[in-house]
Order: sequence, then structure tokens, then C-alpha cells
Amino acid sequence: MKRIVILEAIQESNSYCYVNYELKDFYDHYYYYGEDVMKYRGHAGTEVHGFVDILSQEEDIEIVPLFATHATSGGAISAEAYEKIAGDIREGLQKAGHVDGICAALHGAMLSVSSDDPEGDFLQIMREIVGEEVPIFATMDLHGNITRKKFENATGIVGFRHYPHDDSFQTGQRAARLLVKTVKGEIQPVMALGKAPMLVPCNTGTIGGGPMEEILKNEDRMEEEKGILAVTVFPVQPWLNVPETGFAAVVIADGEKEQAISCAQTLARMGWELKEKFEREIVPPAKAIELALEAEEDNVILVDTADAPGGGSTGDSNIMLKALLEAKVTVPCCVSVVDSEAADKAARAGIGAKVTVSVGNKIDVRRGTPIEVTGTVRRISDGRFVYAGLFAGSVGDMGTTVVLQVGEIALMISSRATYEWDDGQYRCAGVNVSDYKMIVIKNPMSYQKTYQHITKRAYILDTPGPSSANLKSFPFERINHPKYPFDQIENPVIETLVK
Ligand SMILES: [Zn+2]
Repeated sequence: MKRIVILEAIQESNSYCYVNYELKDFYDHYYYYGEDVMKYRGHAGTEVHGFVDILSQEEDIEIVPLFATHATSGGAISAEAYEKIAGDIREGLQKAGHVDGICAALHGAMLSVSSDDPEGDFLQIMREIVGEEVPIFATMDLHGNITRKKFENATGIVGFRHYPHDDSFQTGQRAARLLVKTVKGEIQPVMALGKAPMLVPCNTGTIGGGPMEEILKNEDRMEEEKGILAVTVFPVQPWLNVPETGFAAVVIADGEKEQAISCAQTLARMGWELKEKFEREIVPPAKAIELALEAEEDNVILVDTADAPGGGSTGDSNIMLKALLEAKVTVPCCVSVVDSEAADKAARAGIGAKVTVSVGNKIDVRRGTPIEVTGTVRRISDGRFVYAGLFAGSVGDMGTTVVLQVGEIALMISSRATYEWDDGQYRCAGVNVSDYKMIVIKNPMSYQKTYQHITKRAYILDTPGPSSANLKSFPFERINHPKYPFDQIENPVIETLVK
């Protein structure tokens, strides 16, 4: 019987989010051990589900679930949270006794206040305990940052191919299949990494057209080549102020290092060639409002990437609310701000009440101050909703949520930030987006799918915030240079590693 350990430790960090994530944030989400990992994570389309699906089909494999935990995107995790996860890996593996392989679901872009590369550290701990001969396959988000430490300690790294990420289950399956074949001695995996000296914004990293679509086609084509086992391009989420960040391609091949190197370099170079295509015009709020008013379309999307909870922001920026108020809009607009205090106050006032609240920038205090608005409470809800698009069926929970009508502006005030995978938040609050000329959303790209049936006109806003689309607005004083788009690079060096 072969014993395969599975585990999950996921959080996406953002160097520019000043709110650090504590251990409590993981517990609040989930932190399962042993059989509970199978019970709660072994389904629902997760990477762990993909592991379990493949591993459980093998008669001579015993699954040894260690633990599974996740916190939402945000700032670097605390030293306590880091130590807890590292300790659970160490103790879990020591207790597990003899182990024949590991499938680890990681994110790839986690930071901690005590480390630039927690997941590299976690993989190193696993490696030190199980030794050089035991295969370790890790799954990662394509927004993960592939460091030397991650590369050196994993046998193989397999990432999501899709953004939006609707292929978590398949990614888990791909990694587990490779692990099973390795354990059985059917393949001898080698891995190559190619890195291009560039950072790209998230808005254009989707597979719905654009440069990543082209890259994806090449990933698919390469994976069909004889001897190639897995190919992933990691455009990386750009808000990581760490030395080794950058666009990467990881290729796993069966014994043929040269083949793996060649494919990884080709894909990294392709990213470089396409770098300008990742750029998209970003528009200051006042200008975007002006353009929206001039537009013939009934609905226009204003994309406040900078405050996207999915990118690690707090969702509590009031910049777009302020911009709409300053523009004195006379057409219906909707915008959201996270502010539990304001939501509570408005909810207590009751439907139909006229209320004045101070709203926004109480969490992200460095980028603005609360503003006072007076409006009529139009709707109060518990903020619980079911996602209908990506991750359909999973539940979002904004806490007490109020729609305050401020002139023509429907201001949705929620108590907690949630990922905007679709328009679930507005739906939940009774805001029918097609009734609004301007719809402010806080996600870099989900609008392309969510709102395509009502409008194709969208402006990406040049607003400040931890997940801004304007990469040049960040100091990035710790990243290795030269790097596009910050430096002039004549002959890019594609950094290559192989093992
Ligand atoms: Zn991602």
C-alpha cells in the first residue's frame, strides 16, 4: 500500500494591503484536520477534490489527509499564522510515518510578515522530512509566484490554466495523476522553469480573448507533445513586492530535461513578446464618468480594480462614491462600499428612513477618509447570497447589507468584503444592474462574463488601492530589476532553471 499525503494551505497575499492576516482569519474560513479534510474539501470542485478523485481510484493507494485551510486574499499573513501552518506540516508529516508521496494544494502568492515565500518554505519543510526520493506535487494558482525555493523543493508544480479559475478540480487531478505515475515508476518527471522579466496587470490576464488566450493555446499544444507531462504559464498577480516576482512558465517532462527547458523558454519568451498586449488603457474616475455619460449604451461598467477583495483589497474604498457625488450624476448609478458600522446604523434606522452615515476607508485608512452621505434606506438584507457564475452554488456572506439611495446613486453598504465572482452582491441587495447607467464593480475581470449580456462597454479605473491596475503607481522597491514595465529592456534574459 502506498501512502499519499494530501494537504491544502491557501491564501493570496498583496504587499500593498496593509491589513495583515491573522491565524483567526484562517479559522474563520476553515481549518480542517484528518478525515474532515476529505469530508469538507474532498468535493465541490477544489484541488483537493481533484487529488481525492484520482487517488481514490487506485486500489493500492491510501490517502493520508493532513489538514486544509484557507483565508481570503489580503495582506501578508502574520508570523503566528505562518508558524501554525509550518508546524502542522512538520508535525503532520512526522506523525504520518512512512509516506510515498505528497499532493499539496497551495496558492503560490502567499506572503508572511516573516517570509517572502512561505509556500517555498512549506515545500522545503516537506522535502526535508520526506527526503529527496519522495515525490511532492504542488498545485498553484496561475497568479502564484514561482520562486527558486518552490521550484527546488517540489517534484512538480501544476497550476490553474484558466482565469477566471474554473479549473481547480482539473488542476488537482493533473497533479495527482502525475504523482500516481511517479510513485508507480511509470514516469521520471523533470521540471524546467522559464521566467521573463516582466509584471502584467490582472485585468487582461483572462482567457476570454487577449494574450493569455494565445498562450493557453500553446500550453495545450505543448502538453500534447510526446514526453511533455504538464505545462503551466504563471502570469503572476502583480502586487508582490518581493525580489523574485515575475512572469513564469513551468514545464514538467518525462526524463527529457532539454525538452522541458525548450518549452519553458518558448512560453516565457512568448509572454515577453506579448507584453504590450497585456496593457490596457486605465482612466481616471472623473474621465470615466464623463465617458460613460456620453456613451450610447444604457449600462456602462466602471472597474475599480484597485479595491478588489479578490486581489487583496478591503472593498471599503469610497473613491468611486466620492467621484459620483462630485460629478453630481443625474442618471442611476450603483456602487458598493464595505463598512459594517455604516451598514448597522442604516439598518437600525429602518427601511424608508432618512439617515446620515460616515462611510468608507475605515479599514484601509491610508488611502482615504470616511465621507458623510445622507440617503434613504431602500433595502436591508442579511447579505447572504449564492454565486451563480463561477463557483456556482457556493455561498457569499456580506453580513448586514443596506442599500442607501443617495440621489441617483444606489449605495450598497455591506459589512464584509466578498469576492465579486459575479453580480451576486448586487442581486442579493435587490439592485438590478441593468437599471443603472453606471455600475461600479470591484473585480479586475469578472465583468467580462457577468455583464456581457447587458453591456460590453467598460472602463478600467485609475484609482489608488492595493490591487490597482496602474502598476507604475506602486513603489516596488524590493523587486529585482530590470523589469518591464518599469525599465527599458533591450535584450530580455529568460532566466531558466531545470532539475
Ligand atoms: Zn488567481
